[in-house]
Amino acid sequence: MTPEDTMRLLVALRSRGVTNMRVLTAMEQVDRARFVSPTFAARAFEDVPLPVASGQTISQPSVVGLMTQALDPQPRDKVLEVGTGTGYQAAILSKLARRVYTVERHRALTRLARVNHAALGLTNITQITGDGSHGLEEQAPFDRILVTAAAEDTPGPLLAQLRIGGSMVLPVGVSDHVQTLIKVTRTADGYEYDELSPVRFVPLVEGVEHD
Ligand code: SAH
Repeated sequence: MTPEDTMRLLVALRSRGVTNMRVLTAMEQVDRARFVSPTFAARAFEDVPLPVASGQTISQPSVVGLMTQALDPQPRDKVLEVGTGTGYQAAILSKLARRVYTVERHRALTRLARVNHAALGLTNITQITGDGSHGLEEQAPFDRILVTAAAEDTPGPLLAQLRIGGSMVLPVGVSDHVQTLIKVTRTADGYEYDELSPVRFVPLVEGVEHD
């Protein structure tokens, strides 16, 4: 990541409303070129989503920034991410939290993410192949949950696996239609919902692909 790449990324993030210094610093530290396919390496620092293996996409940097800022992970937090892709968002979360578990339904992507994280020396991330809509019961409860694929409704198991006082950020809505980024906070009495912004994500799909 050259100083020009970093500058370009920071300008894009700030212009889209990513202002949290911890988030900006974490994003400066993670080289996005590592998470895109070599064909697209030259475009790694443009603020656009790009295609990756298994017909999936790496999220747009400003969307990663806004979601991370809304999630606001703290240094002692245990975080669950649903939808690893090639592992870019998980790498950023790993700079901000104690421990990150990330679940992906395409086995080929889980493996790729594992390689990418190892190459960057990120040792506090566990990559799991599975259907993340069920969460990760054996590691629950989580302080923070981030979902990077859109469901029509908030999956019940994810609500159940959120610690009281914890929060979850996720896109909800039908794929190819308007989706809304929401933040769910678990209180002692129940759940509070906040609508954040319109977004567009690939759908949350059931089951696992052994590709
Ligand atoms: N977080 C990624 C973005 C990945 S795109 C990044 O940092 O770039 C969303 C990912 O969610 C895709 O890889 C897709 O395969 C995955 N996905 C969709 N439904 C899923 C499910 N039920 N469980 C786990 N992963 C899922």
